[in-house]
Amino acid sequence: MGMSTRNDLRIDRERLWATLMETAQFGATAAGGICRLALTEEDRAVRDWFRAAAEAAGCTVEIDEMGNMFARRPGRDPNRPPIAIGSHLDTQPTGGKFDGILGVLAGLEVIRTLNDHGIETDAPIEVINWTNEEGSRFAPAMLASGGFGGVFDRDYAYARTDRNGVTFGEALEKIGYRGSTRAGDHPLAAHFELHIEQGPVLEAENVAIGVVTGVQAIRWYDVTVTGQENHAGATPMGLRRDALAAAAAVIGAVEGVAREMGGVGTVGVIESHPQSRNVIPGRVFLSIDLRHPEDSRLAAMEARLGEEIAALAKARHVEIAFERIWHSPAVAFDPACIKAVADSATHLGYTHREIVSGPGHDSVYVSRVAPSAMIFIPCAGGLSHNERESITPQQAEAGANVLLHAVLATEARLSRQR
Ligand SMILES: [Zn+2]
Repeated sequence: MGMSTRNDLRIDRERLWATLMETAQFGATAAGGICRLALTEEDRAVRDWFRAAAEAAGCTVEIDEMGNMFARRPGRDPNRPPIAIGSHLDTQPTGGKFDGILGVLAGLEVIRTLNDHGIETDAPIEVINWTNEEGSRFAPAMLASGGFGGVFDRDYAYARTDRNGVTFGEALEKIGYRGSTRAGDHPLAAHFELHIEQGPVLEAENVAIGVVTGVQAIRWYDVTVTGQENHAGATPMGLRRDALAAAAAVIGAVEGVAREMGGVGTVGVIESHPQSRNVIPGRVFLSIDLRHPEDSRLAAMEARLGEEIAALAKARHVEIAFERIWHSPAVAFDPACIKAVADSATHLGYTHREIVSGPGHDSVYVSRVAPSAMIFIPCAGGLSHNERESITPQQAEAGANVLLHAVLATEARLSRQR
């Protein structure tokens, strides 16, 4: 097949949409969403469906020790590592029909499209279902792509438990998806992930395709403000050590630093003691989540916030413990893979812009061991992790077409380099 034929290829929008709606029945909720927690009977059912559909499309399906599923469409050269398309089929308890699922089923649609047109590739093309991306049943999130990327070892993963004390290893065994291949013992030439944005930017700007250049750096903090409990009537304003009023100033500082330094900052948890109407609060706990696309800027945000917190503690005569408890460095995706996504969007005539992902994704960990990039499409209102998560068939089609062409262009580029 010549390049002109490849350039004219388009996925089948109606077939992709029908596939999305068909698999949405596994774990369907009354409100129109999906409850398909990792390694449950619903997850087993959608896995069985995916395996059968992939085999019907001429793929072989390999399962690794983390339950990751690799559906391979052979290439002319069986010794070449595949160009992979991966995301996840598990959902949140009140999840939607597209978060993760679109990325796997669009991969299946790419393979069906290649089959329809008799397109052969030199390298194999592979569609991957990464296990337990959501982290809702088994924490942490992205557990099995993390196993693949060398972040978590097998024994750690197998020992994770759900709320009923069932381990990840037991649950894998029970649904019949504990494979024998060592996680990560499966080289990939590249990895592409199509996903809904889960944010409002593309929709607000009326842009069809987000060319994802990386994932933001994240730092989490615990903050404890200690003042002094005292009578709300008898203590004049100038003589108080009010921990909650100081915490309010900390929240203001988080917002100010994030706005001024181009990042995002969130106080999601606040616990004030002793919770009495006529007692000045003596102790407050806060959580802080700071994010920025660049590690160095996030470090600067942390330093600046630390200075502001120290100054306001002094001014308000309270003690403030500001402790970082977790961090995830920024991820920069592979320049050649990013370019393949942008060029494909241009070739197809879709509006596009570069974007940095706020949420984490399987590609964060996969990018440690394989050149990777992501494609975002808008979702209504930026809503996700919600049964009302919504996209249109046209938006799904645009994303899947960009995926198809990014994969083919990467396959051709790597073939030329050999
Ligand atoms: Zn997802």
